[in-house]
Amino acid sequence: MLLRKKKPVILRRDRHPISRRNIDEDALKVLYRLKQCGHTAYLVGGGVRDLLIGRQPKDFDIGTSAHPNQVRKLFRNCFLIGRRFRLAHIRFGEKIIETSTFRRRPDPLPEGATTQQQAQDNTFGTPAEDAQRRDFTINGLFYDINTFAVIDHVGGLDDLKRKLVRTIGDPDERFIEDPVRMIRAVRFAARLGFKIERKTMAAILRNRKALSGAAPSRMLEEICRLAPFGSSAAAMKILHQTRLLEVVFPELAATINESSETADILKGMLQQLDQRDLPAADLTPAVVFGYVYCPVFRKEIELLPENPHITEYLKIARSILEPSAARYHLPKKYFYDIIHQYALQGRLELNGFPPTVRKRMLIQPFFRPGLSLYRDYLKASGQPVALLDELGKMAEKVDPLEIPAPRRRKRRPRRRRRTETNAA
Ligand code: ATP
Ligand code: MG
Repeated sequence: MLLRKKKPVILRRDRHPISRRNIDEDALKVLYRLKQCGHTAYLVGGGVRDLLIGRQPKDFDIGTSAHPNQVRKLFRNCFLIGRRFRLAHIRFGEKIIETSTFRRRPDPLPEGATTQQQAQDNTFGTPAEDAQRRDFTINGLFYDINTFAVIDHVGGLDDLKRKLVRTIGDPDERFIEDPVRMIRAVRFAARLGFKIERKTMAAILRNRKALSGAAPSRMLEEICRLAPFGSSAAAMKILHQTRLLEVVFPELAATINESSETADILKGMLQQLDQRDLPAADLTPAVVFGYVYCPVFRKEIELLPENPHITEYLKIARSILEPSAARYHLPKKYFYDIIHQYALQGRLELNGFPPTVRKRMLIQPFFRPGLSLYRDYLKASGQPVALLDELGKMAEKVDPLEIPAPRRRKRRPRRRRRTETNAA
């Protein structure tokens, strides 16, 4: 593999804004311990990027010359994970400081190589090689705990200034190597308000179909990571511009092609979701997929004849969600959460609004998220939401203990079927 042999750009402490005060104290402990034991230790990835542009990082990852077993011996609270590449997770209560040994990009596999050969490729590398194997220039920066300098092997400092998301190395090669990086490009552009650099953009347009071969679990994770920090509406816009939407949510792309109104409604819904500024843990696949497919669901509901039965709502919800659930191995729990939330819309529309609504429904776990989703849909499509607000207030006041348990109907004993054996 050819490596850029250029010298790194090094920004001394007085030329960059990163202060140890903004670095998590447990991450600092890990950095210092590694350093004291004679290893190179850098803060790497998103933590450096965010600190340089004045954002509070979500997490602090560490890169080091120490091998995984050496890291384990230094920290009692350390667990090694990962088969392909061993990563050290150093735990401080709920918090995990991910510490990885510098590694290089695996050499291209010979044609016909097996996945087992791929799995054996666990090669450590130098810091410069570690920077080159990262995805985007803005994610390839290091902060050295020894000198407090920022080290840039990949041109990330320039791209941070220019607000550009650019792959490290040839974009076609990097996206073919790992297509999920295309979704990651959308995440960083949306969250940071950056542009995707021209050649990187052109490579996404060329390689977008490769995404359909990516591992479902990674796709699910990266899709959900598009939403936090109020970036879901921006991410949807960029998915559309890059035509990744056709591959990631084909059913939505098809509906948007037919009616631009769907795009406007979805945009309005996502803007409201963004305003709510939910923590990342609350933006579950049920929330993300529930929002994305809601306008498609509503479009189909509009086509139903008057006074449909609730089962029609359920049928439509299932038929819309099933392809994506299969594509991304959506856990059943989330799938049914969304079905319940969509069915709530049917219940309210068909059975009437308060006071006829049954109290027991207000305490169901799907009720509040379902109500928020429905409210955001109604608001985005210009419909009144006062009745839903009233319902929300009712739900806040209701005491679950006051609600009697549902009465069980007595079952009649089943009659044994007469078969040849018991007849004999
Ligand atoms: P966030 O703030 O959303 O966590 P991040 O930049 O920290 O963003 P992570 O997904 O947490 O992103 O990954 C940490 C770092 O690991 C990235 O900054 C990047 O350097 C590297 N990385 C992660 N995924 C890939 C990938 N698919 N290919 C190459 N490098 C990657
Ligand atoms: Mg991160």
